[in-house]
Amino acid sequence: MLNQIMKIIDVTNTDPDDRRKARLLNILLLGMAVLAFVTVVLVALLIILKVDGWENLVSVFWSGSLFLLGIVLVYVVNQHGYVFAASIMFLLIIMVTFTLANIRAIGNGATQFYFVIPVLIASVLITPASSFVLAAINSAIFVVAAIVLKLEPDFYIGIFGMFAIAVVSWISARVLENALKDLRIINQELDHRVEKRTQELAEANERLKGLDELKSKFVSDVSHELRTPISNLSIYLEMLEDGDSRNTDRYLAVLREETSRLKKLVADVLDLARMETESVEPQLEWRNINAIVDRVFVANQLRADVKGLTMRFLPAKDLPEVYADSDQLVQALNNLVGNSVNYTEKGQVVIRSLLDSGTTHIVVEVSDTGMGIAEQDIAHIFDRFYRGKRAGQSAIPGTGLGLAITKEIIERHGGEILVKSKIGEGTIFSVHLPLEFPETE
Ligand code: ADP
Repeated sequence: MLNQIMKIIDVTNTDPDDRRKARLLNILLLGMAVLAFVTVVLVALLIILKVDGWENLVSVFWSGSLFLLGIVLVYVVNQHGYVFAASIMFLLIIMVTFTLANIRAIGNGATQFYFVIPVLIASVLITPASSFVLAAINSAIFVVAAIVLKLEPDFYIGIFGMFAIAVVSWISARVLENALKDLRIINQELDHRVEKRTQELAEANERLKGLDELKSKFVSDVSHELRTPISNLSIYLEMLEDGDSRNTDRYLAVLREETSRLKKLVADVLDLARMETESVEPQLEWRNINAIVDRVFVANQLRADVKGLTMRFLPAKDLPEVYADSDQLVQALNNLVGNSVNYTEKGQVVIRSLLDSGTTHIVVEVSDTGMGIAEQDIAHIFDRFYRGKRAGQSAIPGTGLGLAITKEIIERHGGEILVKSKIGEGTIFSVHLPLEFPETE
């Protein structure tokens, strides 16, 4: 039953203000319709039973039925979304009804009280200020009725009261509308905030999940990478113990190689882990980049000489200083130069320092004439434990961690690392370090 009533009252207007007004109008219409219906049925019964004075009730029957019809019409208009038109129709109907009900009484001011009702309704259904329009129309009706019917003008108090009520209903309807508007804004803001927070939480959750997966992958990769040198060590140790002494030197060489591979792997893993947990804060100071590159150059020169490679450092003069941790930068650049020496069989390794064209970054470029990197490898070489196909197949030792460490260090300095390479021709890595160090949070 209640559901049925709610269905009758419900509207589909999209504007929240219209929806509120249309619903309110439907409630009023329903109330009036029930009253009118009961009256019409009762009056009809009395007429059918021909009770005393039934002739006088016929006009009541017809006006009641007409009123009911009017209410249904207003309801239909309202349900079609025209709440403004429906409200005006509704006010017209009740005012005509009130006027015709006892026109003589109006002139005398006796039934003027009824006319307060449309004033109140107008301020809520149309706009707060429309209560004054209704008060004025009502006053005009009083005056015209008094003049036409030549009645004693007894309506001044009625008119004054009408406007007093118009003021009160105007103020209260305004307060109500403003409060509703504020509530709606607060509601919208709350919705917006809840939505934003939910999204932030979902993103944070995704990030955590991603980190968790990365950690698990890291641990399983490390264990996998450690397994090979460790099992090689134990195999060769056993062979050394059991085998004949003629192979001792060969076994020892393998053991030495595997030990140094293990040492490098552990050192790289520790470096990465330390950087991730941020247990080593970078020691940032204004540094001369050429001095840093020089340390890297000197450290790799001997290996390059042994391989018969030409190694050159072409420093730009008068470079501004960079805000950097020199040990970390040495480590990052050392990985790049070390790789160039590793993956180049003949030719040269050239290191350049320069200012970029926009003079916002210092660039350190490491180029070689080595084996180059396959296109499909380029997207992955900065991933942990990733070794290029050609590098993996070669005898060149490596852990696949060097570039991951380098990238991490460069990004911690607010910079970026780019790579260009061609198979069989060589590779260029360029490190871009900002001259203005970004603000840390
Ligand atoms: P590692 O050198 O230990 O394999 P890195 O992370 O330093 O690991 O490098 C990842 C991969 O990038 C290498 O396996 C190799 O395939 C490729 N690479 C890096 N530098 C060069 C280079 N200068 N020339 C050719 N390939 C390179």
